[in-house]
Amino acid sequence: MTDTDQLIDRNRRFAKTFAWQDLAIMPKLATIVLACLDARVDPTHIFDLDPGDAGVMRNAGGRVTPDVLRDLGVLGFLAANAPGLTKMQPELVIVHHTDCGMSRLASPEVQHALAERLGLDLHVVETMAITDPALSVASDVEMIRQAPGVPNGFLVSGYVYDVASGVVTEVVAPGSREAVA
Ligand SMILES: [Zn+2]
Repeated sequence: MTDTDQLIDRNRRFAKTFAWQDLAIMPKLATIVLACLDARVDPTHIFDLDPGDAGVMRNAGGRVTPDVLRDLGVLGFLAANAPGLTKMQPELVIVHHTDCGMSRLASPEVQHALAERLGLDLHVVETMAITDPALSVASDVEMIRQAPGVPNGFLVSGYVYDVASGVVTEVVAPGSREAVA
């Protein structure tokens, strides 16, 4: 039995008592959490989310990548054109964490090897490394605030989750995007 088989078994048990059919497509909290895909760092648990509470985006490190920016732009566009949604205050919560696997990219040797293997620009690999999650999350919040295409109304904030204590600490308080010139 593969781990995937186990997941399908778990789904069958989940579906037997399924009761979420009436949840709305828009989350109750008008919030998107961006976090690392690390199995210890699931926003559903960290923020005690119920089904339908918030959107969650995850990638390696919880980083603001071109794909994340594109998705936020698409979501903002769809929300702006959906009746009744313009009154909502959308928020984006970015969470980096201690003991992140992306810290292994801090080594110049690893950076060079990875850049060569994947055909990536060395600078891109360097910026993927997380040595201090407070610094990287602050940098990513700033990137969101400056990025064209992300809806101006977004309140963006940055936090660090400590995998040793379970505590989330604020690094950048919720604030609006800078107006893009
Ligand atoms: Zn991580």
